[in-house]
Amino acid sequence: MNIPITIIGAGPAGLLLAHYLLRRGHYQIEMYESRPDPRLSTNDNQRTFPLALQSRGRKALAKIDNLEEKIGQKVTFCSGTFIYQKNGKSRLIPRNNPILTIDRSVLSLVLLETLDKDDNQTRLKINFNHRCTQINPQEKTLSFQTDNNQEIKVNYNILIGADGANSVVRDCFQENPSFNCQKNHVPDVYKSIYLPLNVPEKSLFLAKDKFHSISLTKNVRMLLVPQGDNNLNGVIIFKQENSPFENIENPSELLKFFQKNGGKIGQLIDIKETESLTKRPISQVITIQCNQFHQGDSLLILGDAAHAVSPSLGQGCNSALEDAMIIDQLLDKYQDNWSEVLPAFTKQRVPDADALQELSNYTFPRKKSLVFEYFLRLRISRLLRQWFPDNFSPPIFELVAETNLSYCEILQRHQGWINKVKQLQ
Ligand SMILES: Cc1cc2nc3c(=O)[nH]c(=O)nc-3n(C[C@H](O)[C@H](O)[C@H](O)COP(=O)(O)OP(=O)(O)OC[C@H]3O[C@@H](n4cnc5c(N)ncnc54)[C@H](O)[C@@H]3O)c2cc1C
Repeated sequence: MNIPITIIGAGPAGLLLAHYLLRRGHYQIEMYESRPDPRLSTNDNQRTFPLALQSRGRKALAKIDNLEEKIGQKVTFCSGTFIYQKNGKSRLIPRNNPILTIDRSVLSLVLLETLDKDDNQTRLKINFNHRCTQINPQEKTLSFQTDNNQEIKVNYNILIGADGANSVVRDCFQENPSFNCQKNHVPDVYKSIYLPLNVPEKSLFLAKDKFHSISLTKNVRMLLVPQGDNNLNGVIIFKQENSPFENIENPSELLKFFQKNGGKIGQLIDIKETESLTKRPISQVITIQCNQFHQGDSLLILGDAAHAVSPSLGQGCNSALEDAMIIDQLLDKYQDNWSEVLPAFTKQRVPDADALQELSNYTFPRKKSLVFEYFLRLRISRLLRQWFPDNFSPPIFELVAETNLSYCEILQRHQGWINKVKQLQ
């Protein structure tokens, strides 16, 4: 008999978990997603951004047949960063190992298209435009609001929250006094921006295989990543209290701001994009740290719902995908006995999520004196590693990106540096 599972949230974590469960052959899955079906809507780009997919995320995707190949058709490899100056000049910081990037919405779309296949039709139902509003763990019921303002109530057997940093599933854990969850705002906020990569009329042609970055004004940075043939997607990052949009009244003033401060990149923007940009929301980044990822024998959270981190190391999505793979491994280990799998997931994953939180918060220092020390250490350790590769560990960002070492092991190797940044920050 099929085991019924309900998943809230069709983002990267929820969709990859559905792939793993369907592959097991005896699950009946019902998914609920608050947003519309991305296959039917063309304008879901209000908050999307490019993600760096690294070793552990790719490993989790590669275990599902054909998925890596399908995603591979949509990714861009970036082998360095062009840093632009306002005077039009630029310098290239090359990378030995190219970074693979994909837009978050495109990743979800590929995961969805490959999931919703004929052979899964009878065992998978995805309900879009269904926002989960309430959970009653005693009665095992869920309430939803649909796009036409209907209220719906359904029962669940096992409920999985893959519903992001503001998880409603996690909210219902609060009833348990031993559950502890810290929610913080990262000081930086962001707006998504969408530019063309080339504008032949202005003789502007940007490299298709590099990140592009510029400091627009003090504490306002723009980071852009080529996507597809002629798109340059990215984010403008700034402090909430230092918003470049605050004193700019209309799209033509905003256009002038970019033309004045954006160097070569500023010339790519046109009035249509500044009109959209003024309407686009400013997004906040939330971090989540919990002491449990499950409750009882029927509730589980994963991905950002369980452990959202700052994007500094580019690990949020990678760790969310890794979660799905770990749940699959635990289902193997405990022969699909969820009452054993749920506590085992908490036991295995909470320490790693805590370690990732520390690494994401304190790898890159903000204090000026430490920034200098950071780059000095990086340079010295690179030299020493050439001579004594076994005695000196690669830097944190390299270990999280290019190895499958657990976050705990990486933290252990670099605990001294993390403690120093934490104390002096
Ligand atoms: C600017 C920025 C850059 C980033 N860069 C990187 C990077 O380079 N590499 C990386 O690994 N990570 C990166 N991240 C983090 C990454 O985006 C997240 O960690 C990842 O998207 C988490 O996936 P998820 O499926 O757990 O959650 P989400 O992607 O948040 O998906 C949750 C889904 O649940 C749905 N949902 C939410 N609430 C409800 C509800 N009540 N009812 C029904 N559905 C609901 C949402 O609509 C959404 O589709 C970045 C994040 C930001 C903000």
